Amino acid sequence: MNEKCNKYEALFIFSDEEKLRSHIKNCEDCRKEDELMNRVSELIQEAKPQILKARTERGRLKIACAAFAILLSGTLFGIINFNQDISDTLRYGAPLTIEDYGFPVDSYGLIMVD
Ligand SMILES: [Zn+2]
Repeated sequence: MNEKCNKYEALFIFSDEEKLRSHIKNCEDCRKEDELMNRVSELIQEAKPQILKARTERGRLKIACAAFAILLSGTLFGIINFNQDISDTLRYGAPLTIEDYGFPVDSYGLIMVD
């Protein structure tokens, strides 16, 4: 038999473990193929924790970035909403004084009370 046996893939995918094992026992080509497959599988098992760890760290970074963006925009809107001078400057070009609201004021900018 000069041709390489190509049943391994078909047995691996479509058949059960028992049929695959019994074929491997009698077939040199498939035994080599199986050893190769096991080695690849071991490598994957070895690399798995590192891949998962990298993925977890990337996920955490994304969450941190999102949290930072939310915090930043929240703070920004908070500053604009609660700081009357900034929102007045944005709306009217200058912070409004008490005089602009129509109250009678003295030369210090304080409301005059009779
Ligand atoms: Zn075979």
